[in-house]
Amino acid sequence: MSQSNLGYISKIEPFGTFDGPGIRSIIFLSGCPLRCVYCHNPETWQAHIGNRYTAAELTEMALKNKPYYGSNGGVTFSGGEPLNQPEFLLECLKSLKAVGIHTALDTSGYSLSPLLPEILEYTDLIIYDLKAADGALYEKITSRKMDVTERFLDLAQKQGTPLWIRQVLVPHLNDNQVNLLVTAQRIAKLKNVEKIEILPYHTLGKSKYETLEYDYPLGNTPAMSMSEGQKWQDQLIDLISRIKSSE
Ligand code: SF4
Repeated sequence: MSQSNLGYISKIEPFGTFDGPGIRSIIFLSGCPLRCVYCHNPETWQAHIGNRYTAAELTEMALKNKPYYGSNGGVTFSGGEPLNQPEFLLECLKSLKAVGIHTALDTSGYSLSPLLPEILEYTDLIIYDLKAADGALYEKITSRKMDVTERFLDLAQKQGTPLWIRQVLVPHLNDNQVNLLVTAQRIAKLKNVEKIEILPYHTLGKSKYETLEYDYPLGNTPAMSMSEGQKWQDQLIDLISRIKSSE
């Protein structure tokens, strides 16, 4: 068995209801090339930690859980960044599709892997974490340049993969009218968008930074309320539809 047949998994949530449609098993792959200032899972950043699984073992687990998935559930790969282990991810996706299980990828799209087109062939849904639609803000949030994820998004558009778009909204960082407009303009250009979700910033990951002895980039930035996030989401969706109808 080659090394690529084993993946590093930081966590498995057998029955999740948040990351994709229906009831799903969420598989958190280790490793992430980004360092988002609001990341609440810093324990997933390192690539070679966690338990090791084969695609066959994960497929077997998914088959056991399949009766609970119902008509629209399935398996979501999250992280970290699931594209950080492209060979293993592709093998898992192929194996799951071979037994008729719906697959979703919860990703920032930050990958240059030549396997991306094939990975998307076996992906039923992308939950795309839109860090920012403006290059400078993207860099401020992730410490990386935006061109890599833009290329991923272009590829997803060419392949016609359905998208759920998510954005984390942080007080004093991106909760301003400029970001609202730029984000709406970017999303308005995308095809196959099935859902748009604003995730209000929370501070639940803060203690993990202390445990790992990392500096917490957002200091004492307050959490955002669910109602504020909902208001922003409604405004964003409304603005996108106004942009589209004016075109
Ligand atoms: S992409 Fe996700 S896991 Fe990676 S740093 Fe950003 S929030 Fe954390």
